[in-house]
Amino acid sequence: KNIFDVESIRKDFPILSRKVNGYPLVYFDNAATSQTPQQVIDAISDYYTGYNANIHRGVHTLSQEATDAYEGARQKVQQHFNAEKSHEIIFTSGTTHAINLVAHGFGSLLSKGDEILVSALEHHSNIVPWQMLCERTGAVMKVIPMNDNGMLQMDQFEELLSEKTKLVFLNHVSNALGTINPVREIIQKAHTKGAAVLLDGAQAAPHIKADVQELDVDFYVVSGHKMCGPTGVGILYGKEEWLEKLPPYQGGGEMIATVTFEKTTYAGLPHKFEAGTPNICGGIAFGAALDYLNNIGFEKIAAYEHELLEYATEKLLEIQDLRIYGISKEKTAVISFNIGEIHPYDIGTIVDKLGIAVRTGHHCAQPIMDYYKIPGTVRASFAFYNTKEEIDTFVEAVKKAKTMLS
Ligand code: PMP
Repeated sequence: KNIFDVESIRKDFPILSRKVNGYPLVYFDNAATSQTPQQVIDAISDYYTGYNANIHRGVHTLSQEATDAYEGARQKVQQHFNAEKSHEIIFTSGTTHAINLVAHGFGSLLSKGDEILVSALEHHSNIVPWQMLCERTGAVMKVIPMNDNGMLQMDQFEELLSEKTKLVFLNHVSNALGTINPVREIIQKAHTKGAAVLLDGAQAAPHIKADVQELDVDFYVVSGHKMCGPTGVGILYGKEEWLEKLPPYQGGGEMIATVTFEKTTYAGLPHKFEAGTPNICGGIAFGAALDYLNNIGFEKIAAYEHELLEYATEKLLEIQDLRIYGISKEKTAVISFNIGEIHPYDIGTIVDKLGIAVRTGHHCAQPIMDYYKIPGTVRASFAFYNTKEEIDTFVEAVKKAKTMLS
């Protein structure tokens, strides 16, 4: 069957049948975190009921089973993102951890006066670690500006890019607006100056299957919990040559080759960056989440979510004074909006009373809100398990909120 069978998909997500404030839950906060299918919940439960053990060092059976499952998950991630080598996949606790790992490592590669370029559209987690890096090294951070549609000003990017630029970092998809950035062009141009590129794929990965070799990106980071996996696990992909250049982030067990009080030598990739007991169950469950998504298929997911996006955009724009931020043909299923002068928080509160979960506020992207001179937006973000009926319910709720608040 070729059509997207959303009703049977919804049955995989137990949470979708719960009620909130007496109404069926309408979950439109998928950009903050996605819901978890039974297949992933089972993977977590199987681990703790069947083979919970520490990995990489035990000779006993449970330890070997856990190690095989964890390393198997790494291979699933490798295949999913088409990394050339499995040791180019580093397990982290999430996107934030992955960015901090790279930003820390660049501390030993940058000197005073070197430049790093950030986009104006970033989540705070792709700003603050780099500011801390600049404080440590004397490197200078420059910002690629955006325009009213929420798109980057590429002519400005080209002007900022120079032989001094060592690194460019930006999100593949903006979490606040859902706009897809022209990452291919950015990577290609950055490479002509010898600058590395880190893409924050936290918001892209749930919707777009990135091929890191085809993109030729140097670092790609994601969070498992936005991809139907659990919280507390994420991925840093790095090209081998770059990961070899970066020093370890944390010291501890698992990341060493030999330790004496005089000197420690480090383990090879990926272990060099995986100090301590990792989130074993989380890694395995993330692998199960990738299986789940790939079983449905990213092309189908993208096509269906695009339908939801177009449907919701059209319906919402029928509401007078409603403004959507982030206008682009290239968007994932995120709608960030305000109605006149109504505070986004008030709309969020009223629709919650009707069982609908949306995000309100600055979405950890204050510079974007400053650009628009607004305190925040209402953000509805859809996943492949949402429906047009839910969008109808949401639009009616927004209309009701508008009437109450005007
Ligand atoms: N970058 C982007 C674009 C995000 O949307 C998020 C999560 N909101 C993050 C980074 C941070 O991810 P995490 O909190 O999972 O580390």
